[in-house]
Amino acid sequence: KGALYIVGTPIGNLGDFSPRARETLGEADFIAAEDTRVTMGLLNRFGLHKPLISYFEHNKLSREGTIIARLRAGETCALVSDAGMPAISDPGETLVAACAREDIPVYVVPGPTAAISALAVSGLPTGRFTFEGFLSVNKRSRRRHLEQVEGETRTMVFYEAPHKLRRTLSDFEKLFGGDRRIAVVRELTKVHEEVWRTTLGEAAAHYREKEPRGEYVLVIAGAEESGNEETAYTLEEAVDMARELL
Ligand code: SAM
Repeated sequence: KGALYIVGTPIGNLGDFSPRARETLGEADFIAAEDTRVTMGLLNRFGLHKPLISYFEHNKLSREGTIIARLRAGETCALVSDAGMPAISDPGETLVAACAREDIPVYVVPGPTAAISALAVSGLPTGRFTFEGFLSVNKRSRRRHLEQVEGETRTMVFYEAPHKLRRTLSDFEKLFGGDRRIAVVRELTKVHEEVWRTTLGEAAAHYREKEPRGEYVLVIAGAEESGNEETAYTLEEAVDMARELL
């Protein structure tokens, strides 16, 4: 029976390409790749030869029909993106949904993802967090997104491209204030890997002077919980807590 395999690939360091990912790409009937040239490079490095079809943001809807038909005919497909986990700010989500609708099994071969790696290294609270992906360049959606996260108390993880970093840091500084803690995480697992734990004010000022370079994840601390929360128990909760002490 056919199946789709979502395969994570390295976000920089090729040593993070897992043995299972390699095996899955080697055994699949075909690979659906975001950019076939990028994936061809990876396959060549590992001596793998496979038929590739392109599956990216602007052809994904038309390609899905073809892929689903092949899966229904019993083939297996490995889905990869240029870096990291497919379906995470990358194509994949709608293909997985289509497989689910068609009752086609979907398996995941997990690999690195920039968001979780950046969160782990940020030094900010990791217990609860939200993944926010990219801010839109469209003015209205951008404003709506910013409004939604304004009072967020969980740690927030954003992706950003270097040429948009300045504007994004300046919007964040206005929204959250210059004292809010941020980890500017750059080029993870690559030669110029850098984690800068600072404040939004410092980060925005720094990048007004310095040209942003490389790939960035911005991990921003959530807003402080309001101070009176600890005393705001209902009578019922207070009784429960007292019982626990006995
Ligand atoms: N699917 C990918 C994943 O699992 O992380 C994300 C793809 S998204 C199109 C690309 C964005 O991920 C970049 O703009 C950057 O924000 C982040 N990113 C990818 N690789 C990175 C790295 N090595 N270091 C820092 N950020 C990275």
